[in-house]
Amino acid sequence: MSTLTEKQIKELPKVELHRHLELSVRAATIKELAPQIGIELPDEETFKNHFLITEKMNDLGSVLNKFLDTQKLLFSEEVLERVAYEACEDAFHEGIKILELRYAPTFVIQGHDHLNFQSIHNSFVKGMQRAEKDFPMAVGLVGIIQRILPVEEAERVTHFVIENKDTFVGLDLADNEEGFDSKPFSSFFDQAKKSGLGITVHSGEANLPKAPRYVKDAIDYLGADRIGHGVQIYRDPEIIEYVKQKQVTLELCPTSNYLTNAVPSTKEHPIVDLMNQGVKVTINTDDPGIFGIDLNHEYNLLVREHLFTQEQFELTNNIAAKESFISLEKKQKVWPRKIN
Ligand SMILES: [Zn+2]
Repeated sequence: MSTLTEKQIKELPKVELHRHLELSVRAATIKELAPQIGIELPDEETFKNHFLITEKMNDLGSVLNKFLDTQKLLFSEEVLERVAYEACEDAFHEGIKILELRYAPTFVIQGHDHLNFQSIHNSFVKGMQRAEKDFPMAVGLVGIIQRILPVEEAERVTHFVIENKDTFVGLDLADNEEGFDSKPFSSFFDQAKKSGLGITVHSGEANLPKAPRYVKDAIDYLGADRIGHGVQIYRDPEIIEYVKQKQVTLELCPTSNYLTNAVPSTKEHPIVDLMNQGVKVTINTDDPGIFGIDLNHEYNLLVREHLFTQEQFELTNNIAAKESFISLEKKQKVWPRKIN
């Protein structure tokens, strides 16, 4: 079998389920907006230093600053709408037909006192819907609860997402798991599920001793349909079995997992091993704007380092198309194969 070329990879119809909208800002847009928040970017090097993570992280502080600088750019409704539109447009040009974008209202709002959850959401929805008119693609938004914030904030986000369930497709829980158990969030995810929203949970990402156990907790306490990352389950055959038995899908992000030290190298990423064991895996970018990558970058990497074949990409994309929280009617319209 011949190896897929870059062109063939680009043309494959794709699904992406795990992409953070706030961290998907187009490089050209960052460069245009940065001076307005007082960051001058005279050359590519300065841009990279301020806004991109391209090497394995060792100190968390400098990384957080890059996240925050990007966040500062989201200072008006106009910018939010533009960022959402461009994120969809860029994804479409990567060959993505079905796209879920997620964001944390509590993160976007920081320092932007003139905005509120509703105005932020309306702006994102506007951009997304405009893109859906211009490009044949199906886009859905997922709201994120930040684990590290007080539980009252989680409650607020839950209510907000449920109130807007016509324009959200799911609820997610993100941030550091160590010391922030899933259990206290149980009732919020229960309410979200009952209202018809899909549940995905960031879990089993960092290389922590209890990481596989956290994935089980996310399934048991939060009713996770999908797990953001979940890569660490490769260390525990029992949890692998559990994930399979519960039919839970993993949203794997190879470059992200490498850059955050979740795996020692992209070559050592257990994606193929998990696939061969029958775990439902999907391929995602996580934070393309911050990592300076796109989905084709991930596909090329998988072809190069893991000898991925067209059949394997079709398998992961069929899984992703099926497991997307976007309604079947809407996603089937843009997807070339029957979703079942
Ligand atoms: Zn993520």
